[in-house]
Amino acid sequence: MTLSNSTWAGMIAMNLRYRVHCEPCDRIVEIDLQNMPPDGNAIGVTFRCSQCGRPGRSIVAPRSAERAVPRNRSKVNATHAGA
Ligand SMILES: [Zn+2]
Repeated sequence: MTLSNSTWAGMIAMNLRYRVHCEPCDRIVEIDLQNMPPDGNAIGVTFRCSQCGRPGRSIVAPRSAERAVPRNRSKVNATHAGA
């Protein structure tokens, strides 16, 4: 079996992250790949927004690239007063 992102199992194996962006609602929903049929075709699948019902835009990215996203949630350090 070739490793490919054309199936859900392949996406999991490649450590990809699948998210769907609904522009009208400005929502990003992450698809839980574990809940998808492993042999199912992951190409050309359209997820619909659960709020407005419009087809969302698929965003597939490697998980390792997440750290490169500038909008990180770094912990806000409490200001150390002296010491
Ligand atoms: Zn929507």
